[in-house]
Amino acid sequence: MNKKPAPKKESAAPAKKAPQPISPPRGMRDVLPADQPVWDLARQACRNVASAYGFERIETPVVEETALFIRGVGKQTDIVEKEMYSFETSGGEKLSLRPESTASVMRAYISNGMLNLPQPVKLWYLGPMFRHDRPQHGRYRQFFQFGCEVIGDEDAVTDAQLALMSHVILKDLGVEATIRINSIGTPESRANYKNALVSYFRSKRAKLSEDDKKRLLKNPLRLLDSKDPAVMEMKAEAPQIIDWLDEDSKAHFMRVLEYLDEVGVPYQLDPYLVRGLDYYTKTVFEIFTASDEPEGAQSALGGGGRYDGLAEILGGRPTSAAGFALGLDRIVSRMRELKIEPPAPGVDVFVAQLGEQGRKKALAAFEELRKAGVRAAEAFSKNAIKTQMEIANRRGAKWAVVIGQKEVLDGTAIIRDMDSGTQEIVDARKVVHEIKKKLDHAEVKTENH
Ligand code: AMP
Repeated sequence: MNKKPAPKKESAAPAKKAPQPISPPRGMRDVLPADQPVWDLARQACRNVASAYGFERIETPVVEETALFIRGVGKQTDIVEKEMYSFETSGGEKLSLRPESTASVMRAYISNGMLNLPQPVKLWYLGPMFRHDRPQHGRYRQFFQFGCEVIGDEDAVTDAQLALMSHVILKDLGVEATIRINSIGTPESRANYKNALVSYFRSKRAKLSEDDKKRLLKNPLRLLDSKDPAVMEMKAEAPQIIDWLDEDSKAHFMRVLEYLDEVGVPYQLDPYLVRGLDYYTKTVFEIFTASDEPEGAQSALGGGGRYDGLAEILGGRPTSAAGFALGLDRIVSRMRELKIEPPAPGVDVFVAQLGEQGRKKALAAFEELRKAGVRAAEAFSKNAIKTQMEIANRRGAKWAVVIGQKEVLDGTAIIRDMDSGTQEIVDARKVVHEIKKKLDHAEVKTENH
């Protein structure tokens, strides 16, 4: 009885599933090496301006207690109500990824006793923010903001200088932008205005969408942000906040505008600009660019204003403050539209090698060049000289230092001019010296041109 075993059915053993590739979370992106030069340009412009205006960097945690944003940004805002990445840790802490940084910076000012420093304290930050919004062009779930905050100062000149700074950064980058500005007064004058606004829209309640009816109850100022054509039409007849401002806020606002006039920053008065966050008082502004995209919130490159009430809301002493934040993702995308690209970082010399002994000497020669401040490149894992020369050309090297078996024995190196193809043999100990001489010579030549 030698029964053959039945042939295995293919389905008998579950086929091992090939692991699926993993994408980044929806609405989040990788900033790839090819994108870094333009990002660096944007980041550097922010840093330069911040330091020129006397700001110092602060870094706060990416996660904070959820209560910070509920109190600081406001419970009724879209950011807190709908867009926060909140979670509870195994230790029972209720934390959130930061959706913005002003509340965090004010928290840091209070918890580090910065009110004992000479006032105002001028701080800047740069980092990722997180909002669980519907992703679309110019709106991501992780995006980068650069921001400046002036804490401990109530003067209108500060508001104006902050708006000016946001304009200067964009101008330095070659991005034309305009400021839209408004004043939303003190909480008291705003409350009076809210009442007037609510009675106006109540009389037209039937024409409002369900969402806007909710806004009317919870956060009526948000109706002014509505993109619904019916509301936009009603808005034209609605009471304007500027007519409800208290005398102090009105005078403050006039001074802000005078200072902006003085420094020639282009701005438009926008009576409907209220900003989404609860903490603002008096001045609010946004900075817009004439984007190639259809007009909309996405073309706002940044926003800011005064927030005199925030310190108290967060448990600190009453402390006036103002600030702004720029959205780097949108700035970079506008720079791309305008073809603003930094020059590619070049290299001066490529170190090529042939054979194991040549590779060893080349490895050491590269170190010497690098230490001497020469921009050097290499491809030590490649063997063929042809491949290495191709890479040298791709990297834009002006010269190649070539070390092969023969050169090792002779204690020499070849220096090849990559443009003309001419070669010279130099003493191996003089490679750095010879290359530096050539670099200095090339510099003088371009200067004389
Ligand atoms: P906000 O304080 O919310 O007005 O944000 C300031 C700036 O950050 C905006 O003008 C945008 O440039 C940028 N920004 C805000 N939310 C996003 C987002 N979800 N994706 C990309 N950029 C954003």
